[in-house]
Amino acid sequence: MESLEEPVSLDFIAGIGGIRAIGVIRALTKGERTETELAEDLGLTEQIIRGILQRFYDAKLVNFRKEREPNGWFVYHWELYPERLAEAISRRKRKILSLLRKRFEFEHSNHFFMCTERCQRFTFEEGFENDFICPSCGESLRQHENEFACQELEDYIGRMESS
Ligand SMILES: [Zn+2]
Repeated sequence: MESLEEPVSLDFIAGIGGIRAIGVIRALTKGERTETELAEDLGLTEQIIRGILQRFYDAKLVNFRKEREPNGWFVYHWELYPERLAEAISRRKRKILSLLRKRFEFEHSNHFFMCTERCQRFTFEEGFENDFICPSCGESLRQHENEFACQELEDYIGRMESS
């Protein structure tokens, strides 16, 4: 689970169980834990831990086994499905990458126009429809360079692909 600390992974985990879920999942990567152990380790109540685990259980990313203690109480031992979590994260990553590539294609293959007030950015077609006059402020539209945005996107995509 070396990819667990990537921003995409942390975002995915927090998206399911909230920001505190990150600690819970991290702890479960080291092995099975009871709700009491997790609560003690993370300084949270068992109720919060249970709520987080329930969401990951619904997402089929964790499982539990019930064991009766000598005092008659049931204790829940929770375990992570690391492969399922990794697969879910990689699906999310592929989706984000595909959106970023589309965005890059759009930025790369279009010329953009803007007024000096920077009210809004227009594609060539949109500028043409407006006679290259900004409909908000009436200033004429000039070509707007987006090389910086393209470069940023390309770098970001590159970093994501190689991680
Ligand atoms: Zn304007």
